[in-house]
Amino acid sequence: MTKFEYSSELFNKIQFNPEQMQDSEYMSKDVTEFFKKVLLMWKRTLIAEAEHGLETLKADVSQVSSDISDQATYEENISLHVRARDRERKLIQKIDEGLILIDRGDYGFCNECGIEIGYDRMVARPTATMCIDCKTASEIKERHTGSFMAEEE
Ligand SMILES: [Zn+2]
Repeated sequence: MTKFEYSSELFNKIQFNPEQMQDSEYMSKDVTEFFKKVLLMWKRTLIAEAEHGLETLKADVSQVSSDISDQATYEENISLHVRARDRERKLIQKIDEGLILIDRGDYGFCNECGIEIGYDRMVARPTATMCIDCKTASEIKERHTGSFMAEEE
């Protein structure tokens, strides 16, 4: 598991408890504030992680010797680094999309059928934009068409 992977423990940190929210309106202003906080914390972690990764890479460059196995390791590190950055960039993009949805008041609702996605799923995946039914349906469709565009959320 990579360090930038999201953890729902962030919600414990900000003391968000969906059960306490049952009486209030779904995705009320108070609740979306919690989600906003988590998304921003997550984004900060990702950016810090990206910067740290770059530092490590720079340190590696200065240590590369003419040893052929060292160079192979170095190239492997570069490709790992590039892939990690790519994944981080995509995640940050999704987080930004989530923040826009919060501002628009559409956060937490399925963009396919419009139903409430639910706190359980939103806490597990704060970047989710589809309810579990639509997500499952789209995954089946993807498998059929062989496209992996939507991949993970
Ligand atoms: Zn749906």
